[in-house]
Amino acid sequence: MASRKTGEFERIATFFAPLAAGFPGALGLTDDAALIRPAEGCEIVVTTDTMVAGVHYVGDEPADLVAQKLLRVNLSDLAAMGARPVAYTLNIALPSALEDDWLERFTAGLAADQRRFGIALAGGDSVSTPGPVTLTITAFGEVAAGAALRRSGARAGDLVYVSGTIGDGALGLKVLRGHVAGLAQTHKDSLIERYRRPQPRTACGPRLAGLAHAAIDVSDGLAADLGHIAEVSGVAAVIEAVSVPLSTAAAAALELDPDLRDAILGGGDDYELLFAAPPGAGGRIASLAAELGLALTAIGRIENGRGVRVVDAGGAAIALRAAGYTHR
Ligand SMILES: [Mg+2]
Repeated sequence: MASRKTGEFERIATFFAPLAAGFPGALGLTDDAALIRPAEGCEIVVTTDTMVAGVHYVGDEPADLVAQKLLRVNLSDLAAMGARPVAYTLNIALPSALEDDWLERFTAGLAADQRRFGIALAGGDSVSTPGPVTLTITAFGEVAAGAALRRSGARAGDLVYVSGTIGDGALGLKVLRGHVAGLAQTHKDSLIERYRRPQPRTACGPRLAGLAHAAIDVSDGLAADLGHIAEVSGVAAVIEAVSVPLSTAAAAALELDPDLRDAILGGGDDYELLFAAPPGAGGRIASLAAELGLALTAIGRIENGRGVRVVDAGGAAIALRAAGYTHR
């Protein structure tokens, strides 16, 4: 810490205590631990994600964007469980050469997203490391006891839905790597934004309780994540490629290069909700979509059997070159 101009306590007071001001259970970050009291009849949902500079992000991104992606991937997991955000803890390991202005921008990104998504800091730890920046958020949400959405409830006959649009995250990463030539700059910008700052569906997730039989968020890729639902539910799933909703930018990219279809259907980082619901829930799902101003699109179905098939408009199987990447 010697090379940093503020000491540990001053750093907590300056950068982290303001983030905890909205959460009484954080006790002003002056106690040994925080208190979380779930609302009557609710249980606490816990999820955690770690990002390492050079592994999970390039390393030279603006610190506020890094902070927001880390918080948002956690919020997306809460949404996929049907939980409402409550609080989070933050553990950071920073190289001592990193300046306080990095921390200032990092915490400013968190502050903006706390207001946006209704969550606050409950506690954490910060240490210095000879290695790369390593960041962990553990997020706590709440859900009515027994009502959490699971991956395991999909049944034959269910329809498969996704929120928003699919493929933007994977295409955004390709754009950043210079792999999408000829695309208009506005489309490039919107795909990069979607990759760097996903939109966790925090308003939608809790509303799917009682509607969806199973849910997950799209982090590994549409086909792979539907595969997770199919596997633990003991069913098969079919994706109709033509039904998968695309953003204007993704549609333009696909028109330029039809081979990008595999990245759209198999790539990750969308952080949309993917869920299975019975056909009888269709009307209520349409009403929810209208109320939230969020597309909820049926893209396929659940059948008896095993595995995930992607089919074209004529029902013929499409082989994806990459069925989603593995966890890094
Ligand atoms: Mg997830």
